[in-house]
Amino acid sequence: MPQKRFLLQESEIPTRWYNVQAEMPNKPLPPLHPGTHQPLKAEDLYPIFAEECSRQELNQTDAWIDIPEEVLDKYKSYRATPLVRAYDLEKALDTPAHIYFKNESTNPLGSHKVNSALAQAYYCKREGVKNVTTETGAGQWGAALAYAARTFGLEAAVYQVKISMQQKPYRSMMMRTFGATVEGSPSMSTRAGKDLITQNPAYSGSLGSAISEAIELATTTPDCKYTLGSVLSHVTLHQTIIGLEAEKQMQQAGEYPDTVIACFGGGSNFGGVAFPFMRHNFNDGRTTEFIAAEPESCPKLTRGEFRYDFGDESGYTPLLPMYTLGHNFHPANIHAGGLRYHGAGTIVSQLIKDRLMTAVDIPQTEAFRAALLFARTEGIIPAPESSHAIAATVREALKAKEAGQQKVILFNLSGHGLIDMTAYDAYLSGDLQDYKVSDTEIARNLQDVPQV
Ligand SMILES: *Cc1c(COP(=O)(O)O)cnc(C)c1O
Repeated sequence: MPQKRFLLQESEIPTRWYNVQAEMPNKPLPPLHPGTHQPLKAEDLYPIFAEECSRQELNQTDAWIDIPEEVLDKYKSYRATPLVRAYDLEKALDTPAHIYFKNESTNPLGSHKVNSALAQAYYCKREGVKNVTTETGAGQWGAALAYAARTFGLEAAVYQVKISMQQKPYRSMMMRTFGATVEGSPSMSTRAGKDLITQNPAYSGSLGSAISEAIELATTTPDCKYTLGSVLSHVTLHQTIIGLEAEKQMQQAGEYPDTVIACFGGGSNFGGVAFPFMRHNFNDGRTTEFIAAEPESCPKLTRGEFRYDFGDESGYTPLLPMYTLGHNFHPANIHAGGLRYHGAGTIVSQLIKDRLMTAVDIPQTEAFRAALLFARTEGIIPAPESSHAIAATVREALKAKEAGQQKVILFNLSGHGLIDMTAYDAYLSGDLQDYKVSDTEIARNLQDVPQV
């Protein structure tokens, strides 16, 4: 029997993260101060983020950054994660392609988010911070941060997008189990939340609005820092442990990916699996193709514009050079809550602009169709977010079949869907629909993006 799962010994777990910013042909443009529009320095970010995270955010010189011992020690309780050859999925698709997936769903929190949560909580602790705050959509990030905060002895306050809180009640219970306080966003506890509720009492929230609330709490509370689970470059840096492990595991399998695929919310699991392989395109003449799979209802990479825009709805964050649908874009209430975000990380945005990677947009029902196929062949119920990566993989595998092409595809399974079963229930009952955004709506939203 051919080998199916590729594992690593504890001693083989990478001890450094890979910082792609140091090796990109064109570096991302600098983030700008929201008021003065001047390029930001790391010190400008200290009031919001841990200082080490602020420095990592703007580090464009060091390709390798040591993972602190304390973080590595926590990683070892659930890493390395398995790399799996999806033989049964290949068979079901009758494709000559070899399909591998990196399984980031195996940790007790259920998604890749904990890789960065542990790092951010650790740096906060080391710098004397007492409280951390954040936003969460479907709740994977909130749950991961709640656990990481507890691990390093910090209090955590989480703003969860209201619609997701209703769709995924179990994740708020998980967060509270770890000792975090959880509030639905928009809430009446911040000025940003109050403003949003006043404008639109029925508004069910978005990641952009929850970020505004969390930043407001962090900047108005002593010894409190804000943490973010996606979008920013330091978050993606922490996630490169995924691709660095996968690289060693693909070596064990005796193959190298022609195509690397991940779903895309703000870019952390995509960058995490992709950047370690992309470095071989930059440095060693490899020609791997990289595909980000975003939802059709929130198509910033495929239909947004490259602009300086805010990372949150109320305009508290620095201005980031990114593909965006406009910071006050209100995505439809799709079940992949982790992908309902208007913008994209600055690294991925630059890479798309330079055509060093591509993106596809996936209708929600296609994602669930792929999810069911994956569940029924590989026995894992994927997170609705991850299902977008599976759908993109299915498309590529079928293309390979048509072309009679024997290619190697690697995708990242960013999380499992066991706490998203209401979404599966809705799909199985025929209650899910697709949401295509109109050009007019996108153009209208982009009018509110500041001119820089
Ligand atoms: C948060 C999340 C995503 C989207 O975030 P990225 O930063 O784009 O990776 C994808 N999948 C899962 C399971 C998530 O929890």
